[in-house]
Amino acid sequence: MQNPATKQLEPVFDYISRHENRFLERLKTYLSMPSISAYGEGIAETAAYLADWLRELGMEAGLRETSGWPVVIGRRMDAPGKPTVLLYGHYDVQPPDPLEAWISPPFSPTVRNGRLYARGAGDNKGQHAAQLFALESLLAVHGRLPINVIFLLEGEEEVGSPNMPEVVDRYRRELDADLVIISDGPVDISGQSQLQFGVRGLITIELRARGANQDLHSGNWGGVVPNPIWTLVHLLSSMKNKEGEITIDGFYDDVEQPTDLEREALTALPIDIDQVMRKLELAELDAPGGRPFFDRLAFWPTFTINGIQGGYNGPGSKTVLPHEAVVKCDMRLVHNQSGADIFSKVEAHVRKHAPDVECIWLGGMDPSKTPLDSPFTAPIFRAITLAQGAEPQMVPAMGGSLPNYLFTKTLGLPTFVVPYANADEDNHAPNENIEVARIFMGIRTGASMLVHLAEMESVP
Ligand SMILES: [Zn+2]
Repeated sequence: MQNPATKQLEPVFDYISRHENRFLERLKTYLSMPSISAYGEGIAETAAYLADWLRELGMEAGLRETSGWPVVIGRRMDAPGKPTVLLYGHYDVQPPDPLEAWISPPFSPTVRNGRLYARGAGDNKGQHAAQLFALESLLAVHGRLPINVIFLLEGEEEVGSPNMPEVVDRYRRELDADLVIISDGPVDISGQSQLQFGVRGLITIELRARGANQDLHSGNWGGVVPNPIWTLVHLLSSMKNKEGEITIDGFYDDVEQPTDLEREALTALPIDIDQVMRKLELAELDAPGGRPFFDRLAFWPTFTINGIQGGYNGPGSKTVLPHEAVVKCDMRLVHNQSGADIFSKVEAHVRKHAPDVECIWLGGMDPSKTPLDSPFTAPIFRAITLAQGAEPQMVPAMGGSLPNYLFTKTLGLPTFVVPYANADEDNHAPNENIEVARIFMGIRTGASMLVHLAEMESVP
């Protein structure tokens, strides 16, 4: 016997397959509009186009001002007593340079070998367009949406979402939902779908040491004038030891170990470490050894030196005693650390060990995590499995960083990432693409998630 969700979805899936060509053409139109947040090209037109699109779907929709580019918000409340989902995406894209590396121009969407090529195809227009087509399909077949839907489409994700804290605060009332679903990023490299529950946080820091007021001759002044590169080397080595432990006071205080469920999910994730090491020509993984691969990415913070500058690094030699040295670092943070707290611990460490070194905050975002046993997990899991014919991997946290803490921490909402794009989508690079079949799979998945969420007995 068919369950009610399957019964509701069958005609919707049928509608989706009958309209594939039209969906593809509409997406091409959308992708042909540049919307480059880095310098504002096409932002206003694209935002207005999206607001119209949301209104076509019967949503109350419009542009909302921010201190930067506008966000587009749309709401459709068809189902009192049912959950309200906030679907977040971003309509801005990365600059397309270098143009000569594109086989077809970045804003002339072209299908080749089963893939749609255009800037934004995967990141993120193709993915949130799939959600919009899912709404269209549900409305065409059933006349109403099974749950309440809020769309939030940002125009500054590709420049680091500088105004999203303001957006969630200023428009909090309009964004009042029960959960957030984000379709962005790629699926696993094997092609298997993923359901992601968290991301690491990130802070970026610059440490700046000064010696004399000018570069000097290392013979005439060496041994007399202190060397700022050595100052940084000593400072850095006081911050992390050879065993791989970060030795800043209190750094690990808020780090939480995985729950049993998370442990189980991490263990189930496929990885061939030998193959990774061969591919990267590595003799060993970073210290400390012995940690499982995905634990390293999901449950341990890092301290990465991104680069050191100072003195002379050109061809041959130059016996210079440099007057200044700069190191840029980032730290990936895990649940329950906070960027502000960790930065203050770094500052305290620098004050103690090298008080003359300047410690500069460059930016950051907090980590985010939704528990695997959230009541929304099961319906979303079933929805993906039904729409795609295979179970998704459960990923407790990704190694990278997204501003999802705004949803989980600021708005207090469980947040799920369900990517639709292929692993080789080449976003941020020339020849960005999405497999055409993944667009349609995304539409089916979007519809399936709404129908399965509607089946929940009560809204948690
Ligand atoms: Zn991107």
